Amino acid sequence: MHDLSVRQHAVSLLRNGCRNVEVAERCGVPVGTVARWKHADLSRRHALPGRRPSTCLHCHGDPLDRSAYSYLLGLYLGDGYIVQPRQHRAHSLAITCDDKWPGLMNEVEHTIRLVLPNNTPCRVSRGGCHDVKVYSKHLPCYFPQHGPGKKHERPIVLAPWQQEIVTAHPWRLVRGLIHSDGCRITNWATRTVAGATRRHEYPRYFFTNTSADIVRLFTDTLDAVGVEWKACRRAGGAVNVSVARRASVALLDEHVGAKW
Ligand SMILES: [Zn+2]
Repeated sequence: MHDLSVRQHAVSLLRNGCRNVEVAERCGVPVGTVARWKHADLSRRHALPGRRPSTCLHCHGDPLDRSAYSYLLGLYLGDGYIVQPRQHRAHSLAITCDDKWPGLMNEVEHTIRLVLPNNTPCRVSRGGCHDVKVYSKHLPCYFPQHGPGKKHERPIVLAPWQQEIVTAHPWRLVRGLIHSDGCRITNWATRTVAGATRRHEYPRYFFTNTSADIVRLFTDTLDAVGVEWKACRRAGGAVNVSVARRASVALLDEHVGAKW
């Protein structure tokens, strides 16, 4: 058990923008404890009346950063999940990010801030990865695809306003889907040309998902931006979409790129 004053000091440092690691060091508590305190503090503050209201494009008519939204929609449909609250508590959206890619994790957090400027995201350690998480009771307004059960067990159909955004910002959706459920890999082979052995690299992109609707949304959007792809079904029902043609890989390199 930690002294209450230690916890209060930690929370005030967190509210001033100190990072978890730094707070852990300054207060002499494990970083996991700091993350839990931060979490509790955020959810408590959302429950308090009289605070600035959560952002909502529908309920409050707040403006929406449409390009950021298209990316966040891709992240959510790829690998994100929204958790239904217990009574009277806000929904949470979590995007799981591998600790191997800190740059990507920062972009995810930054994007959440752009889409939901009144709601503060946080990071919850899960051992080897972090959930970048945000709480808001308006998340179902932003992601009407939210529902009980797994995404591949229910139809995923974009609302007309979402499709309009995706049509205007197709690359952002593709980027979000690949960053969450895809990857860029480099195969290589050697060839002997005029007596000399040369190494050739073949970069490719992959996207794997079990929802036929999400795969179709991905491939329709690739078609719209002129990327050639091939799909094959894997054992277990997931579909693997690969992009291997040089011109198409070059387009994805320009707009998506490897994780970092
Ligand atoms: Zn709303």
